[in-house]
Amino acid sequence: MWPEPAAEPRFGPRLAAYAATPERSQGRVHPEPSPRYRSEFQRDRDRIVHSTAFRRLKYKTQVFVSHEGDLFRNRLTHSLEVAQIARSCARALGLNEDLTEAIALAHDLGHTPFGHAGQHALNNCMRDRGGFEHNLQSLRIVDFLEQHYAEFDGLNLTFETREGILKHCSQENALRLGLVGERFLHGGQPTLEAQLTNMADEVAYNNHDVDDGLRAGLLTMEQLCGVELFRERYEQVRSRYPGLEERRVQHETVRRMIDALVSDLIVTSRAAIQAAGIQGSEAARDFPEPLIHFSPDMARQNRELKRFLRQNLYHHHRVYRMTVKAQRIVRDLFEAFTEDAKLLPEHFQDHARRLAENDEHGLARGVADYIAGMTDRHAIREHDRIFDLLTLI
Ligand code: MG
Repeated sequence: MWPEPAAEPRFGPRLAAYAATPERSQGRVHPEPSPRYRSEFQRDRDRIVHSTAFRRLKYKTQVFVSHEGDLFRNRLTHSLEVAQIARSCARALGLNEDLTEAIALAHDLGHTPFGHAGQHALNNCMRDRGGFEHNLQSLRIVDFLEQHYAEFDGLNLTFETREGILKHCSQENALRLGLVGERFLHGGQPTLEAQLTNMADEVAYNNHDVDDGLRAGLLTMEQLCGVELFRERYEQVRSRYPGLEERRVQHETVRRMIDALVSDLIVTSRAAIQAAGIQGSEAARDFPEPLIHFSPDMARQNRELKRFLRQNLYHHHRVYRMTVKAQRIVRDLFEAFTEDAKLLPEHFQDHARRLAENDEHGLARGVADYIAGMTDRHAIREHDRIFDLLTLI
């Protein structure tokens, strides 16, 4: 017999009263005995790390396609950076680091190959067939598509991790999803850990996209000095270290931007939680608005940076060319597989057939599952195999 759950957490650092705890978890869809040497949220994190979808993240584009260079972020390194930022904040705020880390590592599992270009193309293909949304796909992977365990499909994660993965959701999908979709029907927030991971995602990608954009030569520091968040830190570095080489200036500036955002996030969120008188994780979920956020001034600076990146990096013609190419690959594959399902690998033929038994769009959904699961290079190879007469296998 195992002892009753202790008042103190069994694993990990002391938590604030408003943190999520495994003892107060809404549990797993398929009940399982508690792990002996880990918390329930650690087990979630570990199952995510051991999943196939997690390993695929290494070969999925963040902004730059992986063959453009070895040093650019991919979905895996992005997810690790999100986890790092989210965990630092979680510890400072007394939130549950294990849950935070689990959500961070799983948050992008459902991304298609070729980043947002791929998602956009697949969503267009699925427009009249229920649509495609990477966020929902992440949940579909951990609930259903990973098939490794003897007793259930998916990873059978706790409610709190699943809820944290589902950042947005239409009313129609929420109705279908049961408990995990409920907050999209009746209002309310996810746990503070989920709110935090959402913010850490933004901090991570805004900053690493600046870094990658500079490395790729698509952005310049002069250009970035038009953005307050960058300029202030850049000037600090320049005046403190005159004559410092450019690459170090770049890194010192970006690390100061991350520090400014993270510090503001911690201080502002702690004050907001206190001001709201939040004493438990349920009270945070019932609160009418998110409690983890930037101060108004930092939110403004962050918006300015995002706008800059949209205009100068994501819409840069070199990124745009790849975007168009990626969309063509996804669209071609989708059309070929839905027109003739026998082109699918056998495992996915079975998968699509099973889905089609209960759903008029089941075949298309099965094809979307196959395409969404591809890495960039797998998608390129599949495209060659199907459309290039000289590629036989
Ligand atoms: Mg992300």
